[in-house]
Amino acid sequence: MINYRPASDLLKRLLREIIRPRPLLKYWEWADKHVSIPPEASGPMPGRLNTGRFPVFRGLFDLAQQGHVHFISLCASIRVGKTLFSIIVMLYWLAEKAGSAVWLDPSGASAKKVSKSEIDPFIQLCEPVKRLAIIGRTTWTSTWKTFKGKILRFIGAGEEANLHGFNAELAIINEFDSCKQAVVKKKASEDGKEDSSSADKIIGRTQLFPFTRKIIENSSPRQAGEFSPIWQSFLRGSQHYCYVPCPHCSAEAKASGNARPLPEKMPVGWSKESMDPHLVGWQRLVFTNDPAYQPAKHLPFDHDLMPIEGTMEERLGRIDFSCAEIWAEAISPQDATKTIRVKTGYDEDKVEHQTTYQCGHCGKQIEQQSLRWMLNRYRWQAHNPSAPKDRISAHLWRGYAPPELGGGWNHIAKAFLEAKGDIGKLITFTNMSLGLPFIRAGAAINEGDLDRVLARTPMRYVKGQIPRMPEMLTITADKQKDHLYYVIRAWGVIWESPDMPTWSALVDWGTAMSMDELTVLAGEKPDGSGKYRTFTYTENEKTYEFRCIAGLIDSGNDQDVVFEFCHKRTRIFDPYRGSGPVQTNWNRIRPRDVYDDQLKLWLCWSSHYAERLYYDCIKYGQAGDDPVYWWLPVNIDDDYKQQLTDEYKDGDEWVSRRKMNHLGDCEKMQLPLSELVESRLTLLREKRRNEKTEQK
Ligand SMILES: [Zn+2]
Repeated sequence: MINYRPASDLLKRLLREIIRPRPLLKYWEWADKHVSIPPEASGPMPGRLNTGRFPVFRGLFDLAQQGHVHFISLCASIRVGKTLFSIIVMLYWLAEKAGSAVWLDPSGASAKKVSKSEIDPFIQLCEPVKRLAIIGRTTWTSTWKTFKGKILRFIGAGEEANLHGFNAELAIINEFDSCKQAVVKKKASEDGKEDSSSADKIIGRTQLFPFTRKIIENSSPRQAGEFSPIWQSFLRGSQHYCYVPCPHCSAEAKASGNARPLPEKMPVGWSKESMDPHLVGWQRLVFTNDPAYQPAKHLPFDHDLMPIEGTMEERLGRIDFSCAEIWAEAISPQDATKTIRVKTGYDEDKVEHQTTYQCGHCGKQIEQQSLRWMLNRYRWQAHNPSAPKDRISAHLWRGYAPPELGGGWNHIAKAFLEAKGDIGKLITFTNMSLGLPFIRAGAAINEGDLDRVLARTPMRYVKGQIPRMPEMLTITADKQKDHLYYVIRAWGVIWESPDMPTWSALVDWGTAMSMDELTVLAGEKPDGSGKYRTFTYTENEKTYEFRCIAGLIDSGNDQDVVFEFCHKRTRIFDPYRGSGPVQTNWNRIRPRDVYDDQLKLWLCWSSHYAERLYYDCIKYGQAGDDPVYWWLPVNIDDDYKQQLTDEYKDGDEWVSRRKMNHLGDCEKMQLPLSELVESRLTLLREKRRNEKTEQK
């Protein structure tokens, strides 16, 4: 049957059909429809994705999908699926959006690995993305994948040359805390136009899309304690935590008919199931409510999560394995005629089978099996609702993960008991299982800490010697009124170790009476007898000579003199200045043009580097779960010891006791310089890896 309607009517209808927007699926609805987890991906549960298995991520996706949100920081422990979160948004982007995407990984090698062994298999299993893929020898590589109308790039942090000349609408910064800053000295770089962090440059590449771009950072806190980049990024955002109701409190409310207030409109980040007036006992899950570790916060909402004027103290529960404690009678130290009860350990079997979560409101034990019910009723709540509207940050840790996805309160309790008493393991536990920075307030560095560095240094060597074959030497100097302090470090790679980590060894330190003497000490100018100062290393009866190839000099005290020195009288020194995060725009390093744009000033976030020096390098010898190979010669003198133990942490800043911390400042300056060193070592590593594969 033909319907004779006026032509204009038909046209209108046709037009409506064509321009009617496709129903906009939520990220997670789209993912549940189209994404499968490849068996070769590292996560558990391969096969068709079901975001309902860990529903709190649905709330995170909804928060991230809001049009006004452009920055998403996910600070999380391992085993919660933070990388999967990024992969899903990326797949959605490739299928549904017009703009290109870029993926930044900590190094070139890790970027290629993620591309090949994680992303490729995901794309193969994702029909709407695969359909758009243009697979060919030049269009589909491990760093470059072409789709109809857009490109997906993979870049390693610090790979300067790859950070230019493209635009992207979606940028993903994977394992943010492990990403190096791309700092390339003008003389050493190939294009040398601008210097800033890799993350900043990647964000810069999204500037063409101010209204639609998304920048996603994910990481566990790994370095510099509370000055960890991802933790700081989390603090600057909305600080969303995931709240879940207590099944005991809620059962009681329901039985007594006690209905709680609900918002008229369901807030973004809340689950449908959470819109139930009989749900009470709202809390975020924490490992412990011991105020020494996890103090309760004062928050701008009440226990029903309704906004209030002012603030209210939250109630925290804890993972409870106290039933597994083993107690024994012991003689009282105060009175030998009496006995006291002391905790002697934990019954592992009971930890495995009887660990529960203790509600922060009613104090009752919540069984692991109830977690599913709780997770389905998630409500993401912002602790910092006054953060910029375009910046969502969220925290998530293993306590929320269902046991089949790598969580399990009993496993977390066991991991804690294994770590207890071993500071290194405790740092790993805090960073990797809790997703939190390891913070010790009010701590200081003492000589015992330096002794521990000596004990960690694998070979004994003395001042002036280099303990292993190095790749390069660097020098840093702190200018005083009439003299300078300096530190020279050697840098190399532990080639025999599979992940080829970087080592750094103190080679020389002391004072120079003039800037001129400094250039002689650096081996840049000949001494009185016409000889250049070098450091040597002998291997297989061959002696290799090394001079410093890069240096920083603190311009804080005598800026004009230092600038002139850097510009006219030296090739290797750049000026340095320590500052706060506001000045560096929350970068670890923010290079600034000075001296008529003829010099690059390294403006560095001092507290970040102080924390890395004093905690990661000296006190603990590790960052996240990675060892830090930072070595000292056996004969460090009193001057060095005193100056390296002069600073202590006061609140959230490092301060000097006697203002005699110049060698400490020099060591601190070696760390931003290490980012430059690292970009070169990365190239060397890649060369070696390629040679190895060619040999095979
Ligand atoms: Zn309760």
